[in-house]
Amino acid sequence: MRILPRCFLLSYVLTFALVATAARDEEIPFRFATFSADVTVPLGHGMMGGAWLSKSIADPLEANGFVLLGGDAPVVFVSVDWCEIRNDAYERWQKVLAEAAGTKPDHVLVTTVHQHDAPVADLEAERLLRVRKLAGTICDPDFHERTVQSVAKALRESLNTARSLTHIGTGQAKVEKVASNRRYLTVEGDIRFDRTSSTRKPSAIAADEGVIDPWLKTLSFWDSDTPLAAVSFYAVHPMSYYGAGEVSADFPGIARRQRQAETPGVKQIYCSGCSGNVTAGKYNDGARENRAALAARLHDAMVAAWKETQKHAVHRFAFRSAPLPLEPRTSPGYTIAELQAKLAPDTKPFQQCLAAMGLSWRKRVDAGRNIRVPALDFGDVQLLLLPGETYVQFQLAAQAMRPDSFVCIAGYGEAGCGYLPTDKHFAEHDTNLEDWCWIAPGSEARLLNAIRVVLNADQDSKQE
Ligand SMILES: [Zn+2]
Repeated sequence: MRILPRCFLLSYVLTFALVATAARDEEIPFRFATFSADVTVPLGHGMMGGAWLSKSIADPLEANGFVLLGGDAPVVFVSVDWCEIRNDAYERWQKVLAEAAGTKPDHVLVTTVHQHDAPVADLEAERLLRVRKLAGTICDPDFHERTVQSVAKALRESLNTARSLTHIGTGQAKVEKVASNRRYLTVEGDIRFDRTSSTRKPSAIAADEGVIDPWLKTLSFWDSDTPLAAVSFYAVHPMSYYGAGEVSADFPGIARRQRQAETPGVKQIYCSGCSGNVTAGKYNDGARENRAALAARLHDAMVAAWKETQKHAVHRFAFRSAPLPLEPRTSPGYTIAELQAKLAPDTKPFQQCLAAMGLSWRKRVDAGRNIRVPALDFGDVQLLLLPGETYVQFQLAAQAMRPDSFVCIAGYGEAGCGYLPTDKHFAEHDTNLEDWCWIAPGSEARLLNAIRVVLNADQDSKQE
């Protein structure tokens, strides 16, 4: 216990769920299944939370996942080519997939890749818009339900093809010329936060990459000598260009599909890491040919990480999760009364959507439905899922907490909170936090403590 008062830490330790599985009997081995389903939105559907509507399909959106069987309860992990899944929509995914896998909802880890040419799902927010007959639209609830059910069907069918899981594999490689931090210093020494996914600003292009995690990590699952799945993690906003109405899985989708074609028997799954403040801006001016160029660099790293694979026998795994109580944002413009006032016909449609998402989040927080931070612990390998648009500093902090372990991190889990920055970013008035952030300053210590608990990182406090 180094930072927190004893009572605070004890409450964490007492409330997190621990399902540990010791060495297995010969007759009850670990088993592993993979599944995929199409999750492409129809035309006319809200994109990036209702900022515009879909007009054409550039390439399909997919959900790719796995089920891990043989523990006290199955664990589901699924990566969805959507921008975000929030609040009651997130809970719906967890409930339906849990029923399909025969497990508990909190054992279902849903991450989105966070492409912006893709939809956001928030059912309560959409209900608030529809009941008022407003022009703004975030998502189609009927399409959402059909999609969740089709992913559940794929999951259920995959259980018949489950293979023995004997080993996991780890490999990593640096990604060259893709990621840069949104924050940069101009030559005059001014701090800016506007290095967006595509930028033509000379000072933003010239500045250093800033704080990033350059490593792509690949976690693989094996039945003896047969690889079953490769799950790759890299922290960058996954966009080359967006906003014209095309639906696309963007450059990570291209890289993943290329790997899938090269390794047909190995399910390729891609996850965006904690990249709320990381984009391709330094290396991307938005020209259309850059999509393929960024995909090629990501693909090269996936190939290199795979070549580096080291296998570890699986003897045990543990599932942990910790609650993450976040204070809702109540600064000017974010009170319930102000958000409700924006649900009016004279408000621009996207502003209606933002207000509705704020109210949906607020309803959930006020009901005490905390986000939970889950992790899968394989001993010397951890798989951690963090919520919303968590900033990359938390990914680096999580890895530093377990230097003895290969810590794989997916961001964009439960996304109702929006951006999840450090306290310093609030203090520096990061301009990205002017919208798409529905939490109050002060979340940093809470998130670090939840990470510390689920990574089993603080042995001193654990024994208290
Ligand atoms: Zn984003």
